[in-house]
Amino acid sequence: MSEDRDSGEREARHALRMARKKAVVDAAIARATQTRGLLLVLTGNGKGKSSSAFGMLARALGHGMKVAVFQFIKGSRQTGEQAYFQRDPNVRWEQCGEGFTWETQSRSRDIAAARAGWDKARQALADPAIGLVLLDEMTYLFKYGYLDLAEVLPLLQARPPMQHLVITGRAAPQALMDAADTVSEIADIKHAFRAGVAAQAGIDR
Ligand code: ATP
Ligand code: MG
Repeated sequence: MSEDRDSGEREARHALRMARKKAVVDAAIARATQTRGLLLVLTGNGKGKSSSAFGMLARALGHGMKVAVFQFIKGSRQTGEQAYFQRDPNVRWEQCGEGFTWETQSRSRDIAAARAGWDKARQALADPAIGLVLLDEMTYLFKYGYLDLAEVLPLLQARPPMQHLVITGRAAPQALMDAADTVSEIADIKHAFRAGVAAQAGIDR
């Protein structure tokens, strides 16, 4: 008997708590009335920055949008995401680097590749037909001084009003995060690589 009453009370308390929660969530949803292109920054030392960006790419494509991807720093080896997304005519995919900077070991070549990539990206950032632009690993260009954020930021902000922009990479500069609408920092709790596991197809590349 008393067990029944306990569970009945628990049920009632839960219903009340959920009703209050729903009121708060509904009010927050009602306040969010804007529709516009967003600037997102995905940073931090943990795994999941680029792959999160590719998830948004898939979402945008699913809605029939056109997307453009510019991959800085990394180059040579083709990844699974590139092979997959490139089949879609709504995807423009540009590799704007010759490899990790410790592989090319040529600062002047890295700078030239970064600048050439940025020149292409600028055009996409001025094209209202492109609904989402991804500048993958762009933060390193600022970190290594290949590009000046003060020069780049006004162009990032002058995008067509409905165009989304996602920027990934570790150590995002504060001014970039300040300018962004959404910033996520992925923490590195654990990574299989440190236990001796090589980059796995489908997970890491
Ligand atoms: P992903 O592309 O898997 O989402 P990411 O964009 O967050 O990763 P990057 O710094 O761009 O991270 O590195 C990409 C590659 O390095 C991937 O193969 C990823 O698994 C690996 N990696 C990412 N973070 C770590 C880490 N903390 N330790 C070791 N390897 C990592
Ligand atoms: Mg990445």
